Amino acid sequence: MPPKSTPERAAGPLESAADFRRRLLRWFRRHGRDLPWRRTRDPYHVLVSEFMLQQTQVARVEAYYLRFLEQYPSIGALAAAPPAGVRESWEGLGYYRRAHHLHSLAQEVMRSHGGVIPSDPDLLVRLPGVGRYTAGAVASFAYEIATPAVDTNVARVLRRAFHPRLPRSGAQRRLWETGALLVPRRGASAWSFNQAIMELGALICTARVAHCSRCPVRPACKTGQTGNRKPSPP
Ligand code: SF4
Repeated sequence: MPPKSTPERAAGPLESAADFRRRLLRWFRRHGRDLPWRRTRDPYHVLVSEFMLQQTQVARVEAYYLRFLEQYPSIGALAAAPPAGVRESWEGLGYYRRAHHLHSLAQEVMRSHGGVIPSDPDLLVRLPGVGRYTAGAVASFAYEIATPAVDTNVARVLRRAFHPRLPRSGAQRRLWETGALLVPRRGASAWSFNQAIMELGALICTARVAHCSRCPVRPACKTGQTGNRKPSPP
């Protein structure tokens, strides 16, 4: 039976996972954007930002995020709010189902978790409106749990960097496995790594264009190394 493929095995000495991680983190320390939800580790604040960022651009979310937290400063305050008020606070962000789910989640956390948002991704994923990505994001951003958070930006970076020929079928599983291998267990934080790889996907390795010529992880990226001008699709 062939050995299980890891980024390290697939990449070669210069393109190791450790090299990728090191380059990525160094770049993020210098170029990561200062966003309001990056200034907090409060699980409730992280959760609100993640719900808002689902399907909505960063620039649009910034103003809503701060206003929403002023209106509902704690998960208890949100749980106790009338549904119509929560919907009104969400007005302009669209996709109102998210507001409904967030409100239900707050009530569930108050009812079943004593008002404490769980840190375990397996518990988080059982809450209303929380998928695998959001569970990983809250666990790593709020609690420093070494778990991946693979959204569309991250999936695109992982695919291009480590699996440029990955067939569609089974791709998600493989990308999550790769994400799990890359998240640091010690030293650099899970928060930093997950934020950094998302940022790379948002700013450099974008859906429209892979800006390989100015990409910090290029020497550790399979697509970047081959100089491929047509990277695999997002
Ligand atoms: S080198 Fe190119 S393909 Fe690779 S991660 Fe950077 S931008 Fe994406």
